[in-house]
Amino acid sequence: MTSGSGNPVALITGAAHGIGKGIAARLARSGHTVVVFDINRERGAHVAAAIEHEHGVESLALAGDTGSEDDVRAGVDEIRQRFGRLDALVNNAGNPDPSSVSLDQLERTMWDRYLEVNLTGYFLVAKHAVPLLRERCGAIVNIASIHALQSDTDHNMAYAATKGGIVAFTHALALSEGPRVRVNCISPGWIDVRDEEERRSSPLRDIDHAQHPAGRVGLPRDVAALTAFLLSDEAGFITGQNFIADGGMTRKMIFAK
Ligand code: NAD
Repeated sequence: MTSGSGNPVALITGAAHGIGKGIAARLARSGHTVVVFDINRERGAHVAAAIEHEHGVESLALAGDTGSEDDVRAGVDEIRQRFGRLDALVNNAGNPDPSSVSLDQLERTMWDRYLEVNLTGYFLVAKHAVPLLRERCGAIVNIASIHALQSDTDHNMAYAATKGGIVAFTHALALSEGPRVRVNCISPGWIDVRDEEERRSSPLRDIDHAQHPAGRVGLPRDVAALTAFLLSDEAGFITGQNFIADGGMTRKMIFAK
């Protein structure tokens, strides 16, 4: 296992599953020490251990709720004590379900929880991580969604509002923190986050894939590759932007034929 001290350190929220887990593995592969921050303690610890085993880099699991400032502060303190540096932040933890209930039934508590995790959590983690990122001229990637740009009829109001907020938060933060810290955003389309066994035992329909101009539904590795690029020095001239990774779906005309 490579010691953390000389390696860049990346904090990925919601890294115990799905897109965040894919990003953690990708960054580990490119030599980052990886901090897995997730509300699911058991799964986070499992993922961190698997990363150490498979990629030979140090990985730290931190259990916490990104919507709680106490949890976030404690997590970043632990990173400071353990590694003394932070080079990359990926804000990803969220409730990934775009569909909730109709406006009449949307209780304030549900609306508030969407905002707390999917938007305020991104602010809280950025707030506490940026002092460390400034020291390293680091970079941030915020995971939004194509729901920042378009909706379906399944009552996406709360989710869409948070995702639109992330896109705007991204360019505002990029302007405030530049040139020391670059901040970009990725808006994924449909990403199949089920594990390999589940994907094999219940495959998606042909039409699920074929409707995409790219010919398939996305996988966590698609978002992870773009994240790794945006965090790298090769993306040094790119900040404040939103990149859509959706297999081309938002470029399709949808008028009935
Ligand atoms: P997922 O459910 O597979 O993983 C989310 C992870 O975040 C889980 O490990 C969960 O425990 C953790 N988490 C949830 N709330 C948390 C909190 N308050 N504090 C800390 N950890 C928390 O979801 P996913 O599909 O991988 O989604 C990840 C991000 O990508 C979300 O922001 C989601 O909105 C966005 N996204 C997903 C898709 C998709 O199709 N899967 C598409 C567009 C955007």
